[in-house]
Amino acid sequence: MLKVTGVSTFYDNIQALKEINLEVEQGSIVTILGANGAGKTTTMKTIAGLLKARTGKIEFLGEDVTKLRPDQLLRKGLALVPEGRGILSNMTVLENLEMGAYHRKDSGVAADLEMVMERFPILRERKAQLGGTMSGGQQQMLSIARAIMSKPKLLLLDEPSMGLAPLIVAEIFKIIKEISESGTTVLLVEQNARQALRIADYGYVLESGRVVTNGPAQELLSDERIKAAYLGY
Ligand code: ATP
Repeated sequence: MLKVTGVSTFYDNIQALKEINLEVEQGSIVTILGANGAGKTTTMKTIAGLLKARTGKIEFLGEDVTKLRPDQLLRKGLALVPEGRGILSNMTVLENLEMGAYHRKDSGVAADLEMVMERFPILRERKAQLGGTMSGGQQQMLSIARAIMSKPKLLLLDEPSMGLAPLIVAEIFKIIKEISESGTTVLLVEQNARQALRIADYGYVLESGRVVTNGPAQELLSDERIKAAYLGY
């Protein structure tokens, strides 16, 4: 579904990604692990069109999308939930959800709105509340729900559990699993490596802008080097 080949991304003359190769198969959950500054967010932003790849190629659904803008990618079915959520604070929960679907021309928007309200009851309860006045966990749910409203084929989630209490983190992971089971492919960046690998099919490890390891999530979970470096024992 997604194929990233030899992608390098720079911030001026600082090279943040060094010829990254990465693939995401349709229907899977793929996770990217790595320490702070390894290049995880840069990878997500490059795939989503927010940063330009200086070298390499990004293919989505068999098409070269390397030079496309975020809005063009969104129309093709690639949505990013950015780190730090990025919801519209001065709009209500309902308006935020409607914004997620603004580009859609199909007739399924009302049904999808109902579907996300079913999945996130708190959003129905709070639909008239301003986004910015919700708790961190609620804003994260709104951010994910807004992306679902764009009807993505591939959902990019950048650190969805960041800064949330353990109980909410568990709920977010459960929701990601459900999103996957309902047919959306997921690319997930997480500091919470163990939980991410538990729900993922495949994983990549980034160090200093390079992919240093990749493999089935189960194998990474039992890899001694990965355990020592990323899983805390
Ligand atoms: P984190 O978990 O801290 O978000 P990350 O793995 O997502 O880390 P990136 O944010 O992708 O890492 O950063 C990769 C590298 O690029 C780092 O060395 C970082 O300092 C650098 N970098 C990130 N954003 C910028 C920027 N706007 N300008 C210059 N350098 C940047």
